[in-house]
Amino acid sequence: MLNYRENLSALPSYDGVEKDYRIKVNANESTLGLPPLVEERLLNRLGLVALNRYPNEEYYSLVEQIARNFSVASEQILLGSGSSEIIEKVFHAFGGAGRKIVYPQPSFSMYKIYAKAAEAEAVPFDLDAKFDLDVDAFIKKIRATGSSLAVVCNPNNPTGNTLTLAQVEEIAKNIDCAFLLDEAYVEFYGRSAFGLVKTYPNLIVARTFSKAYGLAGARVGYMIAQAEVTRMIAKTFMPYHMNALSLTAADIVYQMRAEFVPRIQMTVAERQRMFERLKKLSGVEIFPSQTNFLLIRFARAAELAEYLEALGIGVRYFAAPELKNCLRISIGTRMENDEVFAAVKNFVEGR
Ligand SMILES: *Cc1c(COP(=O)(O)O)cnc(C)c1O
Repeated sequence: MLNYRENLSALPSYDGVEKDYRIKVNANESTLGLPPLVEERLLNRLGLVALNRYPNEEYYSLVEQIARNFSVASEQILLGSGSSEIIEKVFHAFGGAGRKIVYPQPSFSMYKIYAKAAEAEAVPFDLDAKFDLDVDAFIKKIRATGSSLAVVCNPNNPTGNTLTLAQVEEIAKNIDCAFLLDEAYVEFYGRSAFGLVKTYPNLIVARTFSKAYGLAGARVGYMIAQAEVTRMIAKTFMPYHMNALSLTAADIVYQMRAEFVPRIQMTVAERQRMFERLKKLSGVEIFPSQTNFLLIRFARAAELAEYLEALGIGVRYFAAPELKNCLRISIGTRMENDEVFAAVKNFVEGR
């Protein structure tokens, strides 16, 4: 027997199974490739990347661009290999044996895993029956447990619902510990809390290029916090943890982010259209969403997922008890959405 670190065999694995779906609406990716103008510029630029050098220039060029956009100092920005790396490092920085990390549930399944990997105690806080967060009770829980980190995903994955900025501020103001706000889907909501960072030294906002900016394969995310916080979190990263190709891709995407606005608007409009249609199916409960996906609850959800899979349509089914009978469906192109809806309707109406 190899002598693995204690607790590693008990650590759960990420359960996202990937298959070669014809219509892939299971992982909240962008279904479109990059806008043609962006792709062209990117392909031209990638040929010029100096792969023999460590990626200093590429890293700081993107940091400065992001800092300029948010009108913050570049010392307030850290980049990560996806916001996953940012989140994992924040858990690492505030975790440790005997410490507690609180987050609402259901939410992003990785929070529990990152907490355990950081040897901290994961403290899930139940959302209500409509998957809304009781902010006062959440604050009380954070304080009563003496947690070192509170984590909130806004808008929340996989439920799609949101906190207002006033509610985010309420939490930041009333807790003493670090507060990580995961804004992976914020482009579809339009209300980022980054502006609160200057007032609240405990607030860390994590963002990603993987969802609205269609760059999931490049693995680029970032965080905004006060300089003192980024200085500490930065210690937990390897030197040169980002690669020059991904940094260059993200740099170009960020320069050209205006090109993505029509797509984000299209996704929001399609989400509304799908919401209205799914809402009318009897036996299907649907949750309002400010993201690029919808969550539905249906008594035969597992069978429905299998039926869709047989048609080449991949949706996300959850094993967690708090998401019993729920399916998460990402918003695709109009044609994909029409096909997904027709299949769901067919199954639900028993044809
Ligand atoms: C997709 C997602 C992320 C980030 O993914 P990366 O690709 O690592 O940036 C983070 N949090 C939530 C809740 C997500 O759904």
